[in-house]
Amino acid sequence: LVASMEQVEETYIMVKPDAVQRGLVGEIISRFEKKGFKLTGLKLFECPKELAEEHYKDLKSKSFFPKLIDYITSGPVVCMAWEGVGVVASARKLIGSTDPLQADPGTIRGDLAVQTGRNVVHGSDSPENGKREIALWFKEGELCQWTPAQAPWLR
Ligand code: ADP
Ligand code: MG
Repeated sequence: LVASMEQVEETYIMVKPDAVQRGLVGEIISRFEKKGFKLTGLKLFECPKELAEEHYKDLKSKSFFPKLIDYITSGPVVCMAWEGVGVVASARKLIGSTDPLQADPGTIRGDLAVQTGRNVVHGSDSPENGKREIALWFKEGELCQWTPAQAPWLR
C-alpha cells in the first residue's frame, strides 16, 4: 500500500560484452526478474562507438575513457529496460560496487566479476539517467508496456 503511492521508476540495465562472452546473460537477467521488477525492453545489440561515447559522456575526461569505449563496443551487449517502484537504487544494490573486489557477495559484481574494467553489468544511477539512457538505447516501438499477472503479489 505504501509502495503503491511511491514513484514508479525506469532504469537502463545492460549486460556488458564480457558477460555475454562468458555466458552470464541468463544469470544476470534472472537477478532482476526474481527480485520482482518488470522487464519492458530487451535486445541483443552491437553498440556503435558514438552511442557508447554518448552513454558515458560524463566520464569523457577520465583516463580510462578510451578503454571503456573499446570494452563496451568489443562485442554484443544485452540492453534492458526495467520498471518498478524504487527500481533505480534497488538495481544498483543488486549490481554492487563498481570495483567487483569491493562489491559484496550476493551482488552481481560481487559474485561474478573481478576487474573494474570488466564488471559485467551497467545500471543507471538516477531516475533521470534511467529515462535518458532508455531513450538513448531503445527506439519507441522496442519497448513493451504490459501488466504482469502476478502484479498483486509482487508489487
Ligand atoms: P558504475 O558502472 O558502477 O556506475 P561509473 O559510472 O563510475 O561506475 O563508471 C562506469 C564504468 O566505467 C564502470 O562500470 C566501469 O566499467 C568503467 N570504469 C570506471 N572506473 C574505471 C577505472 N578506474 N578503470 C577502468 N574502468 C573503469
Ligand atoms: Mg555510472
